Amino acid sequence: MKVFVTGGAGYIGSVCTEELLNAGHEVTVYDNLSEGHRSAVDRRARFVLAKPEVDGDIAQAVQSSRPDAIMHFAAYALVGESMSQPGKYFHNNFGNALKLADAAVACGVKKFVFSSTCATYGPPDRVPMTEDLPQRPINPYGESKLMFEKALIWYRQIHKLEFIAFRYFNAAGASEQFGEHHRIETHLIPNVLFTALGKRPHVEIFGTDYPTPDGTCIRDYIHIKDLAQAHILGLAPGKEGFFNLGNGDGYSVRQVIETCQRLTGKKIPTVEKPRRAGDPPRLVAAARKAIDELGWRPQYPKIEDIVRTAWDWHVKHPEGYPD
Ligand code: UDP
Repeated sequence: MKVFVTGGAGYIGSVCTEELLNAGHEVTVYDNLSEGHRSAVDRRARFVLAKPEVDGDIAQAVQSSRPDAIMHFAAYALVGESMSQPGKYFHNNFGNALKLADAAVACGVKKFVFSSTCATYGPPDRVPMTEDLPQRPINPYGESKLMFEKALIWYRQIHKLEFIAFRYFNAAGASEQFGEHHRIETHLIPNVLFTALGKRPHVEIFGTDYPTPDGTCIRDYIHIKDLAQAHILGLAPGKEGFFNLGNGDGYSVRQVIETCQRLTGKKIPTVEKPRRAGDPPRLVAAARKAIDELGWRPQYPKIEDIVRTAWDWHVKHPEGYPD
């Protein structure tokens, strides 16, 4: 298929682009490089430098690449930042996404694949979390993604735009070639590994008084290549709706740090800090639906495999991408 990938220079988009190309698809990456890196774009892909704020830029880019499918990864994705700059999140994650959905309709795109998030649920009534739980986000990041999920339901009903939306839990790990490089890194696993590499003096633990066994937040970490496989399966006609992508195992912040310490053999000093605004205490997926309906089979479900691939990538690229 011809696939138009927004955010293909970003962390998740770069690995999905690589896997799409490996599976024989043709890819156009549309990315404004505000968060992404030009050298994270697989050389086999066509690259279009995006200017989503310019009227008609998104529509024109879609029009000229005539895709069968769109995968929409481009978004701001930091919970903490969204609590201080909500407008940034609503304008990009909702406003620009709508322009893309309009372009998809105008060009008769057969499938729209959307990167959603477990942050759309807010603190869940129960874990593991199934897709039918109420969605009550507690930060603008989750709200902006939920707003677009809702728009997609209406576009499906009114314009017949077939969509599949994946609610990611915590993406982590790396492929051989592509890994995680945010210009300002706020995520747990890379920050812990930077400490192991000696690039940071310590890891900060945000909140030690949560109602969890060791007092720190629990998350479900999922390997980036497993995320990519789900997206490829989602391209098949008739696969639609909302799917959680996680492993069903929760690890606390302290457990992640211990795992990194064990696998890297490095001492990782920690400093306890207050809670970070907008963080639910525990998010763990039930991904049965993706397994049953899409035939999804995660290849790297263990936290050790996830951390090991991330570590290998950071050791090879201690400064990340050059651009
Ligand atoms: N976290 C932390 N120290 C860090 C980064 C993150 O304690 O340097 C915590 C964060 O508060 C959350 C968990 O680790 O409870 C996962 O955070 P991350 O930013 O990786 O992903 P999120 O769950 O926010 O998408």
